[in-house]
Amino acid sequence: MNLIFLGPPGAGKGTHAKVICEKFGVLQLAAGDILRKNVKEGTSLGLQAKAVMERGALVSDELVNNMMFAEILALKSSKGFILDGYPRTIVQAEALKKFFAKEKIALTAVINFMAPEEVLVDRLSGRRGCPKCGKIYHVRNMPPKKDGICDRDGEKLTIRKDDEPETIRHRLKVYHESTKPLVEFYRKTGLLHDVLAGGDAPSVQKILEKLFEKIH
Ligand code: AMP
Repeated sequence: MNLIFLGPPGAGKGTHAKVICEKFGVLQLAAGDILRKNVKEGTSLGLQAKAVMERGALVSDELVNNMMFAEILALKSSKGFILDGYPRTIVQAEALKKFFAKEKIALTAVINFMAPEEVLVDRLSGRRGCPKCGKIYHVRNMPPKKDGICDRDGEKLTIRKDDEPETIRHRLKVYHESTKPLVEFYRKTGLLHDVLAGGDAPSVQKILEKLFEKIH
């Protein structure tokens, strides 16, 4: 099962990808997480991406395509994958289509996460993450048991630099300009499923599980 999770920042792609991966044994490839890991490790890709990411703009198509193709090839023998936050531009989607054709990889479905703008802003501004295991929390909607501390490993939770209010607004603008056209791109393939993702995590999860039982 090879999936693409499409949608604006804050729509819940990452949160739900983690649950679907556990349930169906597929692997999550989150472009943003892989880029942040490169920034942390100070790789050449990380050095090129850091400033762009901090201001909430998009890293170049060429860099992201090469990074994601290498990641996909590395897990070709797995049960499948969820591409989370990739592709994000028409150029990336066209390149991915060619790559899939060359590697004989079949795309199973594209999930389009939709949520009202005020919900997105609220989710992003209250988002906290564990720098060690990657678990995502929200100060109000999904708080950890102990304030500011990861339930899994006791690590201190952090706020992403690009979750500052000004940067959130810019990232949403970038989504509308560059990524939203992908909805029509994938709708034409007949593989797109719209999911209303503005509700709380457990109810969105139920909608997704029903959908995946059909798709799987
Ligand atoms: P995310 O964790 O998905 O919100 O991504 C964080 C940041 O990583 C984005 O704001 C971009 O700067 C960069 N990024 C993630 N995915 C892509 C992509 N597919 N194309 C270009 N830049 C990306």
